[in-house]
This record gives sequence, C-alpha cells and structure tokens, in this order.
Amino acid sequence: MAGEFSGWRLFREGLTRNRGWTAHWRDPDPKDSYDVLIIGGGGHGLATAFYLAQEHGITNVAVLEKGYLGGGNIGRNTTIVRANYNMPGNSEFYSHSLKLWEGMEQALNFNTMMSQRGVLNLFHSDGQRDYAARRGNTMAGQGDDAVLLDRDGVRAMVPALDFDNGRFPIYGGLFHPRGGTARHDAVAWGYARGADSRGVDLIQNCEVTGIDIENGHVTGVQTSRGPIRARKVGIVVAGRSSQVAAMAGMRLPIESHVLQAFVTEGLKPCIDHVVTFGMGHFYISQSDKGGLVFGGDLDFYASYAARGNLPMAEHVVEAAMTLMPAIGKARVLRSWGGIMDMSPDGSPIIDKTPVEGLYLNCGWCYGGFKAVPGSGFSFAHLLATDRPHGPAARFRLDRFETGRGLMDEEGTGAQHNLH
Ligand SMILES: Cc1cc2nc3c(=O)[nH]c(=O)nc-3n(C[C@H](O)[C@H](O)[C@H](O)COP(=O)(O)OP(=O)(O)OC[C@H]3O[C@@H](n4cnc5c(N)ncnc54)[C@H](O)[C@@H]3O)c2cc1C
Repeated sequence: MAGEFSGWRLFREGLTRNRGWTAHWRDPDPKDSYDVLIIGGGGHGLATAFYLAQEHGITNVAVLEKGYLGGGNIGRNTTIVRANYNMPGNSEFYSHSLKLWEGMEQALNFNTMMSQRGVLNLFHSDGQRDYAARRGNTMAGQGDDAVLLDRDGVRAMVPALDFDNGRFPIYGGLFHPRGGTARHDAVAWGYARGADSRGVDLIQNCEVTGIDIENGHVTGVQTSRGPIRARKVGIVVAGRSSQVAAMAGMRLPIESHVLQAFVTEGLKPCIDHVVTFGMGHFYISQSDKGGLVFGGDLDFYASYAARGNLPMAEHVVEAAMTLMPAIGKARVLRSWGGIMDMSPDGSPIIDKTPVEGLYLNCGWCYGGFKAVPGSGFSFAHLLATDRPHGPAARFRLDRFETGRGLMDEEGTGAQHNLH
C-alpha cells in the first residue's frame, strides 16, 4: 500500500487509462466486538485510529461514522493550519501538531496539498501591536516562527488591502511563515487510508444511538447497524459531543454553534498568504483553484443546523469590504456552515470521563482543523496508555468544574459564543 502513489505508479496508470486504481479503503461490516471503538469519522477520529495503529500497534479498532467519512467539519472548514497560540498548554500542543503536519504527506503517502504560505495577523492600533509582539515572543520561545512586520512590510506582501481605512488603518502584522493551508478532505482521506491499511475497520452509515455501561464501565455501543462490544470507547464527534456524551449520562460544558464560510469564483492570484483582520473576526486566503476562501464569526446562537443565517453573511462581507474593497467585484459562489463544539474557555478537552473505559475528545471551537494530527496523536496515546500525552495534559475535563487550569486564549470569559 505504501508505494501506491509512487511516481512510477502514476506514470503506469496514465498509460493504461487509470483503470488500475482500487478503492482506498475497505467497506467492512462491523464485527461483534473490538478493543477500541472511535465514535465519529471526522479528522480527529480518523487521525486517532491511524495513530493507535501506527504508534501503539492497536489495530482491533473500528471508527463508527453516522454519515460518510469526511462529511462533517473536516470537509467544511477553511483549512488554516498554524501554531500561533499564546497560552501554556495550547502553545506546546499546536506546536507539536504543526510538526506532525509537516511530516504528514510522507507519513500517509498521500498528497494533502499542505501549503506553508504563511499566516499574517494584522493589527490596527498600538495596543494590538504590543499584544502581537508578546504573542510573537511566545511563539519564538516555543521554537516556532514569528516575524513582526510594520505597515510597509505588510504592504509589500499584500498590496491589495486598504491600509488607510478611516476607522481601521493597518499598523502592521504578525507573520507566521510556517502556517498555511492544506486540503481538508484529503486529510480525512489520507488518515482513513492509512488507518484502513493497518487493519482498522472504517464503518460508514453507522450511527451510535446508545452507550452501554455496566457497573461504571463501558462495555460497548448501540448503533443503527446493531450492538458492538468494546473495551474502550472514544467520543470524537465535534458539534455532536453533548448529544453523544448524554448517551452516557454526561452533561458536557460544550455548546454547539454554527460557523459559516464562503468562496468566490476563481480569480487570478491576488493573496499569497492567509490574512486575518484585527478589528473583527474575518480571515481570507486564496485556494489553488483561485477562489477567495473567507469566513468570520459564529452565528451567535446555539444550533445544530449545518447552514448559516444572512445577518452573519452580511457582517462577514462588511468586514471583507473594509479590509479589501476590491473584493466587492468578486462573485460569491458558495457558502456553507458547520457545527462547532464551543468550550467555555475556547480550549479543547482530551481526557478520560467518569465512566471507566470511556474517553472524550472535543471543544475544538472553530480551530480544530490545524489540531487534527496533534489531537489524533494525543488521543491515541491516552486511549492506549491511560496517561495524557505531554502537550495535551492540560486539556482536562474537570477544569470547568474546579475552575483550575482554565485556558482562556481569547480573554473573553466564560461565554461560549465569544471564543
Ligand atoms: C466554516 C468552518 C471553518 C473552519 N475553519 C477552520 C480553519 O480554518 N482552521 C481550523 O483549524 N479549524 C477550522 N474549523 C474547525 C474545524 O473544522 C473543526 O474544529 C474540526 O474539523 C472538528 O473535528 P472533526 O474533523 O473530527 O469534526 P467532524 O468532521 O465534524 O467529525 C465528527 C464526526 O462525528 C460524526 N458523528 C456525530 N454524531 C455521531 C453519532 N452519533 N454516531 C456516529 N458518528 C457521529 C459526524 O457525522 C462527523 O462526521 C472550521 C470549521 C468550520 C465549520
């Protein structure tokens, strides 16, 4: 399997009308029992299954997905990858995750179109410049890269911005060269193929409808394809976390909110980096096909609908016009929404639960794409060893009960929809 995408293979298939390719993963029926069940076939669930097999040799594993692999947030995000966090815990975790991104294509033998085009966070006041400098120092102290740019430095990189906007002139930016983008669904497919080839069963159209618990210990799950027994069960269902955890009698501190994104028609190259506006939640990059990909804030009310509302679309487009007025000439082709698992401090949870053998991975808010490899690696470590993996040790569930160890990265307090 490892050599499947070799140059020689591509050449040979090109000469034989591409008739030799086979399905990238099997379509097995569920077995009666497994060592580990992963609920949720998104990026985090698939990466967890891959690292369980790859790092720990645990292959009697099934990923149970209620729809199709990659149909959730992993296939709906704006694909930004970065390691520019400020707080202890997050800083080390995302740094580790970015290193895994950098080796991902080799590890999976799959083209995930990883493009380290750099992430540029703009600032528009002296106070924001101070914060950017502090954040840059944290990133550098962590061993990652950060460059503080003045206004001319930003202008040289992205001339199409409105530098002299009456309300929000651009003062400069914090540039993170190793950040960038990757193709989101290819990440899901790459991990799926890697897990399947190591013996993991990927079971689609298999909704978990109940969690079986005996004497405080998980024994398996009920699904739309029948009951399945297991020694250990991991819940990795992003926006559905509260619903699935409720099947085990747990009430999570997670709220589900919609986040929208937009893409325009294909244009000639005009933005080489990922750029974020500092005076509102707006960010933009250009896809390899030429479409401008952009997004903004949550819709601001809890919902399980994977589509957004028009007031937020208007808000995002206003920010776009403020930052880059030329965008007004582009036509939006598509918009869509995903359901975000918002935690009260904006940081994730990777932990055991009070039920023996039941583990939880959630709270990624709107930043869980870049976390996929780090989260899968850490969650696999926890499932395999019952000990937290170093950088993820602070992602404890009980911090919301005790108040100790909260990681309020945005400094916005305990309001889910502000993180
Ligand atoms: C518009 C948008 C833009 C974003 N932009 C970025 C970005 O630029 N950078 C970034 O880092 N992050 C971004 N994110 C966030 C990121 O996409 C998510 O945090 C991350 O994908 C969530 O993890 P996941 O991939 O495992 O989730 P999902 O892909 O949603 O996986 C969860 C899976 O669980 C399945 N499931 C749910 N309930 C059950 C059940 N009962 N039984 C079986 N299966 C079940 C679902 O069908 C789903 O496939 C964005 C999100 C959105 C919506």
